Amino acid sequence: MRLGDLLIQKGILNEQQLRIALQEQNITGNLLGSILVTLGFVASREIAAILAQQSNLEFIDLTEYVIPEEALRAVPRDVAERAEFIPLQYENGVMSIGVTNPTNIRAVDIVTQLTGMPAKIFMVDTEGFYQALERAYYFLENPIPKKIEGIVNEARNVVEPQGNTIAELTDLLIMDGIRRHATDIHFRPMENSVHIFFRIDGVMSHIYCVPKNMQNGIISRIKIMAQLNIAETRLPQDGSFPFEFLSSIYDMRVSLVPTIFGENVVIRILHASSSVLRLNTLGFDEHDTRILRTQFAKPYGIILITGPTGSGKTTTLYSALREIDLLGKNVMTVEDPVEYRLSMVRQTQVNIKAGYDFALAGRNFMRQDPDVILLGEIRDEETAAISVRAAITGHLVLSTLHTNDAITAIPRLVDLGVDKFMLASSIRAIVAQRLLRKLCPYCKTQCEYPPGAFRDMELPELEGIVMAGYRGRGCTACNYSGYLGRTVAGEILVVDDPMREMIYQGGSLQMIRERAINNGMRLMREDALEKAAAGITSYEEIVRVIG
Ligand SMILES: [Zn+2]
Repeated sequence: MRLGDLLIQKGILNEQQLRIALQEQNITGNLLGSILVTLGFVASREIAAILAQQSNLEFIDLTEYVIPEEALRAVPRDVAERAEFIPLQYENGVMSIGVTNPTNIRAVDIVTQLTGMPAKIFMVDTEGFYQALERAYYFLENPIPKKIEGIVNEARNVVEPQGNTIAELTDLLIMDGIRRHATDIHFRPMENSVHIFFRIDGVMSHIYCVPKNMQNGIISRIKIMAQLNIAETRLPQDGSFPFEFLSSIYDMRVSLVPTIFGENVVIRILHASSSVLRLNTLGFDEHDTRILRTQFAKPYGIILITGPTGSGKTTTLYSALREIDLLGKNVMTVEDPVEYRLSMVRQTQVNIKAGYDFALAGRNFMRQDPDVILLGEIRDEETAAISVRAAITGHLVLSTLHTNDAITAIPRLVDLGVDKFMLASSIRAIVAQRLLRKLCPYCKTQCEYPPGAFRDMELPELEGIVMAGYRGRGCTACNYSGYLGRTVAGEILVVDDPMREMIYQGGSLQMIRERAINNGMRLMREDALEKAAAGITSYEEIVRVIG
C-alpha cells in the first residue's frame, strides 16, 4: 500500500491534503513523506509509527529517549551516518538500533559485523533521526559538564578570570541548558558564589556552582548578548538574543533583577518547533478530546485555554488548530513568540519595539478576511474587547488567559472590561490545564501509603480509600528523577444556553460550576487523581503541580 493511501486509511490525512502534496511533489520532486511533513499535514513521527506498525517493528520516540554512552561509543559516528541508523542501546553484546527505513539491510549487516550478534531493530522518525544523531555524537565528543567543571576549577585559582574564559563558560552553560531540555536557566548570585539552576519539566534543579569572581563577567556577557545596558545594575532590565546551536536557532529571553548579592538573571529558552502533536496524544482522555474536537470545529465564538506559564497552553491550542480544516479556512495568528510553525496558517509575531502587539494585530486581521483568529494571550482590555467583537461578528477566536481554573476566566474577562452580555453571547468553551510529569516506565514501582499520609499531603478525599500508588525509583533513563515526559491534567467548561443566561445575569461562579458539573464537566483535580490511580503520574506530583 502506498504511503498516501495508508495515511488516509488511518485517518491522519485527507484526500484534499494528499492532492495538494502530490501537486507539490510534481513541482519539487521531493519525497511525499517529507512534503507532507513540511506542509504540516502529518508529523514525521506519525509516518514512522505507521511504517513501524506495517513492518511489525516497535517505534521509539527519540525526543523522549536518552541514548546511553556505551551504545554511541560502540559505533563510530560516520558509520552510523552513512548506513542511516542510530545506536539506541548496547546490552549483553546485543546492539539495538533505530532506522528510518524498515528495510535498511545495510545497517543490520554493519551492526552484525561490529558486534558479532544480530541487531535489534526499532523504527525512528526521519526528522528526529538526524537531530538525535547530531546531538548524541556532539555531546559524546564535547562533554559540556566536564568542560564547565574545568573552567570553574581554573577560575578558583585566579583573581579575575579572562573575558574569553567567561564568554566560553556562559555559552557552555546555555548549551547545557539546551542539552538537558531546560526551559529556563537561573543565575542566582549568593554571598560567596553564583548558583545555577535549570528548570526542567517544570521543576528547578541545582546544576552548577560558579566562583563569585565570575559573577560580574557572566552578567555583563549576557547583557551584551541581549543588547542591554552594562552600566545599569540597580534597575531591572529585560531583553532577548538569538542563540544558534547544532543547526537550531533558539530565542533567549533575558530578565535581570537586582538583589542584595547582585543581579539575578533568568534566561528563558524558546525554540520554534515544526512538529505539532495530535490532540489525542496530549493526555486529555477520549471524552475530553472529543469535546475539544467538537468545539474547535465550530464556526464562531471564543475558546480560551487557561493556566499558568509553562502549563502547555500553546501546545494544546496548536494541536487543536491542526485539526481545523486549514485548507478550507483562513487562519491568522499573532504570537509572542511563534512557538510552533504551521505552513497552512498565516502566523505573525509580536514586535513591541515596532508597535505590533496583540491588539493591533487583532484589529488588522479583521481586514484580512479571516475565519479563525489566534491571539496569543488576552492580557489587556483592548485585546479582550477585540476578541469579543471578532467572535460576535462570526469568527472563531482562540486565545489563552492566566487563571487557575476554567470558571475563573469569566470574572477575569469581566475585570478586563468585557460587557456581560457580549461575554455571554461570545464565550464557547474554556479549557484549564496543567502539565504533570509522567512516571518513568523503566523504574516505576507500586508503593504503599500509611494512614494519614494523604491527609498530610492535603489530598483528604483519598484518605482511607486509597492505600497504594506509584513512584519512580530513578534510573539512567530518567536521569534519576523517576519521571519521563509529561501529560495534561485538564478540565473543559462548555458554555450552554442556561450558563449564558447565568453569565449575563451575573450569576455566582458556584451556580455556573454546578451547572457545568451537571453537564458532565470533570474537574482538573479529578482528572489528575485518575491519572495517579492509573500509575501515569504520582500523587506527589499532583500536590506539587495542582496543590
Ligand atoms: Zn527511570
